Amino acid sequence: MPVPKRKRSRARRDSRFANKGLKLKAIAKCNQCSGPLMPHQACSGCGFYKGAKVMATKADRGVKRQEIRAKQKSKPQESSSESA
Ligand SMILES: [Zn+2]
Repeated sequence: MPVPKRKRSRARRDSRFANKGLKLKAIAKCNQCSGPLMPHQACSGCGFYKGAKVMATKADRGVKRQEIRAKQKSKPQESSSESA
């Protein structure tokens, strides 16, 4: 039967119970995408806060990155000739 090799220190043991008192205060609902949301914070899913777009989401950055790549593909000779 497996037995712990060492005694757990008091700090290590007590740190296990450190989060026991934490409670979930509130969860709001995003007006734009109706996803879960912390109050007074912008939605990480759609990037909206109080009905206005305030930040770029991961999906937005992906779209922008693809647009930049498409632009670079359309004119690859210019950049390569300058560097050589
Ligand atoms: Zn949202």
